[in-house]
Amino acid sequence: MSALSLEHVSHAFGDLLAVDDLSLTLEHGEVVCLLGPSGCGKTTALRVASGLEPLQQGRVLIEGEVVAGEGRERPPEVRSVGLVFQDYALFPHLTIADNVAFGLRRLAAAERRARVADALALVGMAASAGAHPHMLSGGQQQRIALARALAPQPRVMLLDEPFSNLDARLRQQVRDDTLHVLKRSGTTTLMVTHDPEEAMFMADRIALMREGRIVQLGTPANLYYQPVDAFVASFFGEINSLEGFVEAGEVATPFGAVAADGFAEGSAVQVLIRPEALHLSPVEDGFPLPPHSVAVMAARLMGRTSLVHLRSLELPEGAPHFHARVPGRFLPPENQRLAVALDRAQAFVFPRDPARAGG
Ligand code: ATP
Repeated sequence: MSALSLEHVSHAFGDLLAVDDLSLTLEHGEVVCLLGPSGCGKTTALRVASGLEPLQQGRVLIEGEVVAGEGRERPPEVRSVGLVFQDYALFPHLTIADNVAFGLRRLAAAERRARVADALALVGMAASAGAHPHMLSGGQQQRIALARALAPQPRVMLLDEPFSNLDARLRQQVRDDTLHVLKRSGTTTLMVTHDPEEAMFMADRIALMREGRIVQLGTPANLYYQPVDAFVASFFGEINSLEGFVEAGEVATPFGAVAADGFAEGSAVQVLIRPEALHLSPVEDGFPLPPHSVAVMAARLMGRTSLVHLRSLELPEGAPHFHARVPGRFLPPENQRLAVALDRAQAFVFPRDPARAGG
């Protein structure tokens, strides 16, 4: 039995269809991210799952029980879901322990104390039990919000942009902690984020949404290496884009031909090439230039990678330039000639249809 299922959920605000026939099933212990651009319906889908937004169409099941649909609408507090939002909204007048105990009022005192201690230990905040929220940093408060949501041992955790109020370094730390807390406790989690890197960091599977629909659902590696369309391919970071036509099952690019399986001869296509798919090597002085050579326009160290701006020597002056990403420090001088080997596993061919391309 699945931990959480949304079945054919649709949700409109007036004329605006915010969620459009969305179906998604989470297995026990799985972390799934709803990812997508602003306004694509992620929060609405999460709110329908939680019961904060009354269901309009479809069904929501938690551990096989219909909690919304078929004329039923269980309120959030009896769905056994833990909620964490971007504003962690701790009660300022209560101690940390009392904040965490808030959802445990029905338990006997001893059991309640044990649960609070367990939840605080899980998030590494046992020492702060007697403190008040204002005495804690933003990251610590977010950990308490997580402990408060976990303490009642919910069947499902629903997280909506839980790290977006934290500054960049703290965000990395808290999301690392959160991932391990969720995995250690085996908690099934649906999390909303608009940040592809965050989704890849957190998720066993990602549901990438656009305009109320799931465009692709799969592991981060599925979405990254087998994107179903240009929107998905472009969503995970900057990508080189070229246009061409299919000839004999291939499309020519300045870096070599790319297979265009399943396209009719002569089809107009778009080729998307990840910057890390362009493998660069210097051409020794005096040696002839190999096919698909490029000239360096600029090279910059970006930290873990170097970004090299390239001009294809096979294209006329003024043609769009390309970006290559090379691990570590690789800073060839301007105008140096380089040979390019294309990693075809990171070059994707899609129909050239402006309505579908780039989101
Ligand atoms: P974001 O990342 O910006 O929060 P999102 O993907 O979570 O976006 P939603 O918040 O679900 O998107 O919103 C989906 C669409 O529904 C948007 O166009 C939004 O303006 C609209 N919407 C959301 N809530 C309401 C509401 N209560 N009343 C009217 N329109 C709403």
